[in-house]
Amino acid sequence: MIGAVDIGGTKIAVGIIDESGQVKCRAEAPTEAERGYAAGLQKICEMLRQVLSKCGPTIRGIGIGSTGMLDPIRGEWLDVDFLPGWEQNNPVDDLSRAFGVSTAMENDGDAGALAEAYWGSGKGKSRLVYVTVGTGIGGGIVLDGKLYRGVAGSHPEIGHHVMEASGPECSCGLRGCWEALAAGSCMEKWYEENCPVVGRNGERVSARQICELARDGNEFAKRTVEREGTYLGLGLANLIGMFVPEVIVLGGGMMRSADLYLGRIREVIRSGCRFVPAEKTEILLASLGEDANLIGAATVWQHRYVTTIPS
Ligand SMILES: [Zn+2]
Repeated sequence: MIGAVDIGGTKIAVGIIDESGQVKCRAEAPTEAERGYAAGLQKICEMLRQVLSKCGPTIRGIGIGSTGMLDPIRGEWLDVDFLPGWEQNNPVDDLSRAFGVSTAMENDGDAGALAEAYWGSGKGKSRLVYVTVGTGIGGGIVLDGKLYRGVAGSHPEIGHHVMEASGPECSCGLRGCWEALAAGSCMEKWYEENCPVVGRNGERVSARQICELARDGNEFAKRTVEREGTYLGLGLANLIGMFVPEVIVLGGGMMRSADLYLGRIREVIRSGCRFVPAEKTEILLASLGEDANLIGAATVWQHRYVTTIPS
């Protein structure tokens, strides 16, 4: 059994995962980042004890997947937008001490990539790119069966490659990043700014509602979905051009409506990528569902301390 901790800006989930990637039990609570790291750590420890008393009694180690910039080698946070004031704290040391087992931490995009490579749609593939499309675009890269890291253990941000130099401003400082054009929040913004008839009673129309409208045959919603598919396809075509992976696994909230985008995505990829065998790159949907982040966190420990990706 492995302890798993998934730390996001709004909630923290904790669980016990067995070594075939099944969640045995779980608990979750709001992050309340503003109360500071010490309160957060205390909450994580309490939740871990709670799940251990239910389905423990022992764990071999603890894996953490967390939002934000972090140093996975030292096990501490750097500057994290969603966890203000938590930087330079080291949950790896703190949880190791509290529970007497080895602990490892990765960015949650990397944790998701590892989970898919170990137990999900990408199982057994040694060259995989995981892309999660929600309010932002993130992911992780597995090359030759190992998590790819940048300099000093850094996590590459695949959502921030520039697609349109004069496109919308992006939180990273550039303009026209993939995320700024194709994330769910950007699709909503584009719809709002360009729709000839403004939403329902002036309310913001969510990505999910836009998809529903498109399914009902609403012409502008269909155009919005087509545009979304085009930008998703362009970003994936770029990734195929750069990595030519065996598989790209797509996850995140926006992929609940993947059937609306996949046709256009495949069309865009087919229309380009002439200089690589793009047809050999499978485009698959993530398969670990709601527990993906917890399974990912456990896989972080497994990848660091036990096994390479099973084939
Ligand atoms: Zn950006």
